[in-house]
Amino acid sequence: MRRAGSPPASADELADRCRTAGLVLERPVEPSDLDQALAVIDAWTQVVDATDEREKAELVNAMPARSAAYPRLTDHARAAAGCETIFADTSRNARQRHCSQPCANRDAVRRHRARRSTPAT
Ligand SMILES: [Zn+2]
Repeated sequence: MRRAGSPPASADELADRCRTAGLVLERPVEPSDLDQALAVIDAWTQVVDATDEREKAELVNAMPARSAAYPRLTDHARAAAGCETIFADTSRNARQRHCSQPCANRDAVRRHRARRSTPAT
């Protein structure tokens, strides 16, 4: 059963779909790109079928080839408290700590306040 819609049948169709989705193509789409895209669609179908958010994130992180290292989905486990958003870490070294600039700002304010409000004991 296919839940991700019908996959692109050719590299040209893949390129068309990317452009339709608003992606900027940095180079021509090759047949090997189609193979990778189909592998990703296959893995993505498993993600779509997963019912648990964290299981979804783990499945995405386990996706093969280039998508395994970059980007990664993270829930800021190493960083911001108080934000439950799972986001795609698009930094090459997987160091992105916040889901958005407002999230980063809120976290900076929190840390700033924590430093200033040293309890008077
Ligand atoms: Zn956040």
